[in-house]
Amino acid sequence: MSAPSIIVVGSSNTDMIIKLDHIPRPGETILGGEFVTAAGGKGANQAVGAARAGGKVTFIARVGRDMFGDQAVAGFRRDGINVNYIIRDLVAPSGVALIFVAKDGENSIAVAGGANSRLSPADVKKARRAFAGATAVVMQLETPLETVQATAELAAKAGVRVILNPAPARSLPDKLLKLVSILTPNETEAELLTGVKVSDARAAARAADKLLARGVETVILTLGALGAFVAGANVRQLVPGFKVKPVDTTAAGDIFNGALVVALGEGRTLSDAVRFANAAAAISVTRMGAQPSAPTRKEIHRFLERYG
Ligand code: ADP
Repeated sequence: MSAPSIIVVGSSNTDMIIKLDHIPRPGETILGGEFVTAAGGKGANQAVGAARAGGKVTFIARVGRDMFGDQAVAGFRRDGINVNYIIRDLVAPSGVALIFVAKDGENSIAVAGGANSRLSPADVKKARRAFAGATAVVMQLETPLETVQATAELAAKAGVRVILNPAPARSLPDKLLKLVSILTPNETEAELLTGVKVSDARAAARAADKLLARGVETVILTLGALGAFVAGANVRQLVPGFKVKPVDTTAAGDIFNGALVVALGEGRTLSDAVRFANAAAAISVTRMGAQPSAPTRKEIHRFLERYG
């Protein structure tokens, strides 16, 4: 089987993490922290997740002309991602997330979107050629909404399926939702979009119904360790998650989306594709970091053989 061609449009960040005793209060300085950097950003995480899961990925993004941008692009190349449409911004720096993690697991995060907030509809239009032959375009909400809308319209014209991971949570117009083939909110995002508090599979079904009524074709609502609830015209099903010992759940949703789009591009059924995505995400929560935690296709298959 040839690898499905996938386009990811979205953000790339460098996560700079300091682990310390407690999160500093305004005006406070704390010594003794431990510093780690990791490649992150929802778009980049999903691109890497999809590439490792077996997709032929083109990533459309903006990074700065700085060391962080160099490192990010080098990482994408190592994963075999097509970086021809990644724009090096002459003005804005690369996106950065400054993260404090306290001993008790509490965190505090500040994100400077930098070049991500300048990814424009024109940038995506320049990459129009990449849409020919693509099976899907995947997006999130860390880049401007007008770019997400323009990309969805371009994809619709090209007959390419749109998968939208509506994260971070925000309200969305119906004119965008109508163009979405698969919407993949987590519980918080689903609640913000529908007003339904998603606490179990039954509530997930209610929230999904509201989203379907607004024009989305299929909703895949991720439920953490429980797995994911799938709702569409002919399907309404909880696909259970895998039992693992979580170490770091950062980017679980991103790895889920990356693997999902590959499995769908291979023509698997919805429930089969969600099972594959649940497995990839379950592996990722047993590892530290965002992109470093994304499993390869071989690892996902081995995991499924063992737990299937
Ligand atoms: P997000 O990371 O966006 O908040 P979720 O927490 O819903 O999204 O997680 C996304 C997917 O990751 C889930 O649908 C599931 O497949 C997997 N997952 C998340 N947490 C766990 C866990 N503790 N154990 C096993 N799988 C998990």
